[in-house]
Amino acid sequence: MADADAALGAEIYDLATRLYPVCRSITGDGVRETLRLIAQVVPVEVTEVPSGTPVLDWTIPPEWNIRDAWIADATGRRVVDFRRSNLHVVSYSIPVHRRMSLAELRPHLHTLPDRPDWIPYRTSYYREAWGFCLSQRSLDALEEGEYEVRIDSTLGPGSLTYGEIVVPGSSSDEVLISTHVCHPSLADDNVSGMAVATFLARHFLGRPRRQTLRFLFAPGTIGAITWLSRNEATLGRIRAGLTLTCLGDTHGFTYKRTVFGSAEIDRVVPRALASSSAPFDVIEYFPYGYDERQYNSPGFRLPVGSLMRGRHGRFPEYHTSADDLSFISPARLGESWRVLARVIDLLESGKRYRNLAPRGEPQLGRRGLYRAMGGADIPELENAMLWALSLSDGEHTLEDIVERSGLSRDAISAAVEMLARTGLLAEV
Ligand code: ZN
Repeated sequence: MADADAALGAEIYDLATRLYPVCRSITGDGVRETLRLIAQVVPVEVTEVPSGTPVLDWTIPPEWNIRDAWIADATGRRVVDFRRSNLHVVSYSIPVHRRMSLAELRPHLHTLPDRPDWIPYRTSYYREAWGFCLSQRSLDALEEGEYEVRIDSTLGPGSLTYGEIVVPGSSSDEVLISTHVCHPSLADDNVSGMAVATFLARHFLGRPRRQTLRFLFAPGTIGAITWLSRNEATLGRIRAGLTLTCLGDTHGFTYKRTVFGSAEIDRVVPRALASSSAPFDVIEYFPYGYDERQYNSPGFRLPVGSLMRGRHGRFPEYHTSADDLSFISPARLGESWRVLARVIDLLESGKRYRNLAPRGEPQLGRRGLYRAMGGADIPELENAMLWALSLSDGEHTLEDIVERSGLSRDAISAAVEMLARTGLLAEV
């Protein structure tokens, strides 16, 4: 098993290395190229929604693409070069080509003075602007004088792109796994989420299931909002969901609960994490972070939690060039995959029952259930039947009954089966 995990981790990491260099943003060819790379592993259904389309309270912005960008000194030497790192350009920068002094240029330059070797990641999606990001050390090395500034970008009518992989189940119940695909060369946030989601989809495809799995690869905020606006009629199918982010770093896991705090996914994820050897925290919902805030908003109230390792904004490498491929590892990606596969398995096996004689205790002897309890297992099986009858209110799952009773899963399963056979329990 350990070898299989290591091999899978290596495959996930390999996809991450191919996704990492792509210059993604909330629209544009970077997202398309990302979905094309994912589709080399699992077929992806791609949707394009034209610029200008109203989506909930938003409008799809113009499409942004970039070919090249640089700042060159008087000798023509590129002192900042997009070809070395796509983080060098503020995402959604408008096109620029002019000569300017360092003093004029400075307001457009972004650095991290506390981390002088790192390049920050900055965006300007909904306000027309342009800028460059560079290390403080590079900025300090710039001499006064004239510079040529060029951003060879386009901003115009196009579309917003998102992708879905649907693993069909026999029922209409759905599990939504959502991951943002709008960050450029940042490995943990969120090449890790995309790569892990892709290999989860590959694993579950072709395995018969009850629940449908829907993997959504959408640009942050506007992408999830676009998807929600186009799928309102079928959102009621979603029984549970997760946003995935920062799954490749060395931190322990953090599970962020849904706004409900007690949805099935809120019970299942800690259970899956407890079965791995990694340390983990469970934190309450708050309305920022990633797209869990779209899914949990009052108009939708979809039970979508968030699984991450490092928490956004809480580790120094976050949104900087230090979040590179050395910041994530095959082992951590593989471990994250394993936990998520367990979550999906637990959701799938999360059967609920209804006690069909719920008023008081049903008479078990009359139904031959005492006779069936012959043998050494009598106390546990009897106990298991009482627990199963007691918690089968249509809300608690089999695992909930196991956890609450402290009895073995085998005993609870056997009890449920016997009670169902005699007509006392029915699967919901
Ligand atoms: Zn981010």
